[in-house]
Amino acid sequence: MAEPGLLIERIGPIARLSHNRPERRNAQSAAFLDALDSALADAIADPAVRVIVLGATGAHFSAGHYLKDPDTMRHQRNPEDRYEFESRCYRDYALRLWDAPKPVIAQVQGACIAAGFMIANMCDLIVASDDAFFADPVVGAVAISGVEMLVHPWVMGLRQAKEFLYAGGRVTAAEALAMGMVNRVVPRADLEGVTLELAERIARSSPFALRLMKRSLNRTAEIQGFRAALDAHFDTHQLSHMSTDGQARTAGDMGAAIGAMKRGSSV
Ligand code: ZN
Repeated sequence: MAEPGLLIERIGPIARLSHNRPERRNAQSAAFLDALDSALADAIADPAVRVIVLGATGAHFSAGHYLKDPDTMRHQRNPEDRYEFESRCYRDYALRLWDAPKPVIAQVQGACIAAGFMIANMCDLIVASDDAFFADPVVGAVAISGVEMLVHPWVMGLRQAKEFLYAGGRVTAAEALAMGMVNRVVPRADLEGVTLELAERIARSSPFALRLMKRSLNRTAEIQGFRAALDAHFDTHQLSHMSTDGQARTAGDMGAAIGAMKRGSSV
């Protein structure tokens, strides 16, 4: 198997897990997602780890799923296989970030697109650099109903989520801060330092108190239907893969369309 492109660091009480394929804007392969889920489990199991940071090396956080990845594309051949693959690698892995019994902070710079947006927003906190931007152009680009986990209305509000997903535009770091989608926006040069300082401050609190606090906060969303809504969208998303328009966009078209958007032509 190819090297999955995940950098794992321990910085005092912090485990930092970073996308590490900057030459392809940290697009996520299936091997990367497997490695990330495994590293997350290790960080959860290690009592010396108090806080987890999900980051990225290079100019961008993540451009989304790596659509040239043979391991990803071979699961697009039929709906049954796609459902199993996306359940495991996209839904279950994302929910494990949400359910992690330790605080998880996303450290985001540059492009945070589609599946990158999805996993960053499953984290508890987001610290963004001033050059960060967010986009989920999947509806317009490939005729599929957004990404697998519809976390959007929960983190940006229903009205903003509708414009974001219908029109496929970008949200800047400053706009994300105004919506309450990110906790802080800092100069790019300060991103790592501010994120680690926040993580260290959180790490000084009782792990069990933090665990219970996170449980109650997440339950506040879950009582309002967070988990059921995500599950419902996951299934609807599978239907959109099978639609006439969705099917018409072959893997090659999908790659070309998203590639064009990542170059900035229509996002
Ligand atoms: Zn999908």
